[in-house]
Amino acid sequence: NAAAPFSNAAVRQLETELVLSSWSVQSQLNPLVIAGGAGCMLWDYEGNQYLDFSSQLINTNIGHQHPKVVKAIQDQAAQLCTLAPSNATAVRGEAAKRILARAPQSGPRSFKKIFFTNAGADANENAMRMARLYTGRDKILSAYRSYHGNTGSAIVATGEARRVPNEYARGHVHFFNPYLYRSEFNATSEAEECERALRHLRRVIEAEGPTSIAAILLESIPGTAGVLVPPQGYLKGVRALADEFGIQLILDEVMVGFGRTGAWLALDHFDVQPDLVVFAKGVNSGYVPVGGVMISDQISEFFQNRYFPGGLTYSGHPLAMASIIATLDAMAEEGMVDNARRIGEEHLGPGVKALAARHPIIGETRGKGVFWALEFVSDPVKRTPLPPARLAELKAAALRRGLLVFAVENRFHLAPPCIVNADQVKQALAVLDEVLAEHGKL
Ligand code: PLP
Repeated sequence: NAAAPFSNAAVRQLETELVLSSWSVQSQLNPLVIAGGAGCMLWDYEGNQYLDFSSQLINTNIGHQHPKVVKAIQDQAAQLCTLAPSNATAVRGEAAKRILARAPQSGPRSFKKIFFTNAGADANENAMRMARLYTGRDKILSAYRSYHGNTGSAIVATGEARRVPNEYARGHVHFFNPYLYRSEFNATSEAEECERALRHLRRVIEAEGPTSIAAILLESIPGTAGVLVPPQGYLKGVRALADEFGIQLILDEVMVGFGRTGAWLALDHFDVQPDLVVFAKGVNSGYVPVGGVMISDQISEFFQNRYFPGGLTYSGHPLAMASIIATLDAMAEEGMVDNARRIGEEHLGPGVKALAARHPIIGETRGKGVFWALEFVSDPVKRTPLPPARLAELKAAALRRGLLVFAVENRFHLAPPCIVNADQVKQALAVLDEVLAEHGKL
């Protein structure tokens, strides 16, 4: 056991002393220590095991340490670890081919090219740049309930509170996206929420000046903002508004792409075709950092005879490319997307609904595939969000029972790897039932 020489406490202490940690007050850190993992399981240096229903930051769609992907990375490392993007090598074109095979099919566009980045944030940067260059326009419209990453424009395109201390980029405007449980539009049905949210977006476009707007940027299903599955018709309505005003539509599939929602892309559920698709996380389950943009025919064509003013040292990094090829092949060969859909429909979806029926602290459940939110409330009638301290208590109680969830604001997001099985779902739901019975009284 290579883990043996370390203690959890020593690892935690060294890291919190020497590493500046994301989105944190450094003196308050208490990270969970992990030594290794396999499939849906993780373990620390002292033999404690965890069932990972967070997929880390909702990225390990194939689970931890998939042997085919580990081997592909090892083989590529033995052959060629790194290469400038201006050179060509076999894995880069092959990775692009695999991704383009999953590009949106339902509509007039065909997707022709991939631009590779280091992660999701810089993929959004480059999608916005392409839309601005293509349209000759400036503004980007995006949703208040969104997260698009932590770089210059991506964090300002982000709608949620992490944007506010970081607003140094210009040309961004926000609007409210649908969220029936906490409707901004006094809507009482999905259809009403959809219609009113689209009317609101039209008014924002008109008020901002349609000819100043380069793109509308939206997560197909806003993830960190709460697994906000949009009403059927919303994304199609946004597409129609974009078409009416000559605006490009960018769908951010960083969190929901590649199996998470029981489809290859989440946008596949909504019969909508954007102009640009942004991806990262699920494309290779984060085994090597990577992201990118799927580029439709018109925008690909635009750059055929024009200079593209953008690039990165590690664009199309060979280790990332090898991991994408192996990930997407393994997902197809092993039926992982279908497993995610089936688990969602038959086990996880019905399971969280049953949990909500037993525990009034759960105000609403939402989701698709292996991507579900439990929204906790301290008052179900007023829908008062559960205070952060109580959410932390629930998360810690689940962890003590060996279940790791993604906790944000007043919610748990249950997002196991796409390979999760019915027994593991049952086990996780039993833990949550116990935790809520003990700590979830109103
Ligand atoms: N877009 C979405 C929808 C995300 O969920 C995230 C990260 O959680 C990002 C973009 C940013 O990706 P990264 O952290 O890889 O830069």
